[in-house]
Amino acid sequence: MALTETRRERWRAHWRRRLLWSALAALVLALLVTLVWLAGRYEASQLQSKLDRDAADAVSDIRSRLTRNLQSLQALQFGEPLPARWAAEAAVLLRERRELLRIEWRDSQHQILAQAGTPYRPAVFDRLGRDSVHSEVVQACNAARRISGPAYSRSYFVPMTDGLGVEVMEVCLPLASAGVVMGYLVATYSLQDLLDDLAGQLTRSQEVSFTEGDGTRLAMRGMARRSSRVFKAQQLLDLPGTTLVLRIDSWRGAPDLFPNVLTALVTAMSIALVSILLLLGKDMRRRLKAESDLADALAFRKAMEDSLVTGLRARDLEGRISYVNPAFCQMVGFSAEELMGQSANAPYWPPELADEYKKRQDIRLAGNVPPREGFESVFMHKDGTRFPVLIIEAPLINAQGVQTGWMSAFLDIREQRRVEELSRASQDRLQATARLAMVGEMASLLSHELNQPLAAISSYATGMRNLLQRGAHTLADVELAMHRIAEQAERAGKVIKSVHDFVRRRDQAREAVAPLALFDAILPLINLQARKLGVQVQLRLESGLPLVLCDRTMVEQVLLNLARNGMQAMDRPEIRRRVLQLGAKHASPDTRWVEFFVADVGPGIAPEVAQQLFTPFFTTKAEGMGLGLSLCRTVIEQHGGALAFEPHPPQGTVFTFTLPTGSPQAPLP
Ligand code: ADP
Repeated sequence: MALTETRRERWRAHWRRRLLWSALAALVLALLVTLVWLAGRYEASQLQSKLDRDAADAVSDIRSRLTRNLQSLQALQFGEPLPARWAAEAAVLLRERRELLRIEWRDSQHQILAQAGTPYRPAVFDRLGRDSVHSEVVQACNAARRISGPAYSRSYFVPMTDGLGVEVMEVCLPLASAGVVMGYLVATYSLQDLLDDLAGQLTRSQEVSFTEGDGTRLAMRGMARRSSRVFKAQQLLDLPGTTLVLRIDSWRGAPDLFPNVLTALVTAMSIALVSILLLLGKDMRRRLKAESDLADALAFRKAMEDSLVTGLRARDLEGRISYVNPAFCQMVGFSAEELMGQSANAPYWPPELADEYKKRQDIRLAGNVPPREGFESVFMHKDGTRFPVLIIEAPLINAQGVQTGWMSAFLDIREQRRVEELSRASQDRLQATARLAMVGEMASLLSHELNQPLAAISSYATGMRNLLQRGAHTLADVELAMHRIAEQAERAGKVIKSVHDFVRRRDQAREAVAPLALFDAILPLINLQARKLGVQVQLRLESGLPLVLCDRTMVEQVLLNLARNGMQAMDRPEIRRRVLQLGAKHASPDTRWVEFFVADVGPGIAPEVAQQLFTPFFTTKAEGMGLGLSLCRTVIEQHGGALAFEPHPPQGTVFTFTLPTGSPQAPLP
């Protein structure tokens, strides 16, 4: 349930983030487009106003040219020239001014007195005939007369002999003398050539033309290039009698991504903005990832803490509890809230031990590092039960390497104690069983051994009774017989006692014992078996041996076991001289130990047997239990010593074990 809730929450956050990012991206894109568009607009308006200025300049250029031409025309009449000279001067003027196609001197009746044509073109009116346009000229001259100044005709097209044509316009200048019009000067302009004069000012991407009101081009200059983006500027050229429209078209090359510096700048800034946004986004993603990693790590830690069976507790340097895990709370029965902040006299300290614990805590807080393997202590559950714990403590070091307190781990060792107790009990039982088995084995020996004194007692008793019945006895005889009987009974008693001593379970306790005493205790039992098997027992004790610290019952049993194994190994028909050597000597090089040995001249131990010798229940004998050697080793190791065996040259095996030396006053380990 909680899981789906979290997932839904994550899903929502994911989509919210996506939406925000999309909105941001759209906004940036819109801004970018707007900026680029505005930059384009600005550039276009700049171009447009430049074009407008160019058009105005062109118009004023044309106007001043026309005025200059009028002055030149007027100059032709200076000094009332003869027609021939006039024509010569007019020709000069025509050479200078290409836009003028023809100049005529007419009288007041519009009759041509003199004329001259441009040298640059074939005669203009050859094909059309000058008379056909007479009305245009007359109209212009009438207007000129009216206004007493130059007047222009409307423009018209003149087809020419070369198949082409030319758009022309007439200008009529009245020649007046004392207020009376004496004649006219008529000049014909080629609109095309008039535009040619502007050529120098035009850029390659401009086209200049004279148009009619509807846009029809009358004459034009420049290359007409069609392009997506064309700018247009129109300017009226107002002349007396007519009005011309001058139009300039300009185009820009194919639309450019970076049309100008401004656009480039805006784009660069936008790119920088987007990059910064992307970097920020990346950074944010990293941060989010780190956050989610941290959350995962926390969840992991929590799960780990909750699953731990080891109790954990942290204390600060003043000894106040700053953290406990659930396992610790469960162990002591107090909640985390009850424990937090507690320092001296923690509620889980048994009152009778509180003083000791307080001292231990003070030592710890003074900076003493506890043993790494931990130490045992006793805690008290909330319900009052005491239980043993194993405490392992370590300094708590923070990220800066400074110690901020102590971290302790607690193991409830009740169960461990119980298992140890159980295993000790079963070990004891095993030993008891092994001892009983040995006793059983001895029973037959015992009966054989007791037979002799009993038989002797019986024969003494029978002899005595015979003597008594016959009355042929002396007091001395009776006394001797009684003495022998007592002797034999004592011997039998000793045998029984030696077995009894061994079997009787004495308290386990370490005591300082002389090695000889250990041998003395078991020799009677060993001899029982030795006599039966025909074994000669030799005791070899080094002089000056110290006391050994041991549980004598156990060690005696070990010696007995080893001796019995040795004698059984020699119970073979091919072994004639059967010798069992028992003894003890100083262990070398460490004289704090005494080494005991039991050597036989048996067949030795085969390698495959040697491998399993100490495995419980391993035996090669039909009636064997296989427990002897494994128990022997346990006993010796419990004493801190070691049990080993090796070949006994020239034949047989020697088992050795070590025991620590000790005096009766020495403290028990
Ligand atoms: P058990 O005597 O009941 O068989 P042990 O643990 O005392 O059990 O001995 C295990 C085996 O080790 C014996 O069965 C025997 O084969 C071998 N063994 C022990 N002592 C000797 C020895 N002195 N010489 C040869 N073999 C031995």
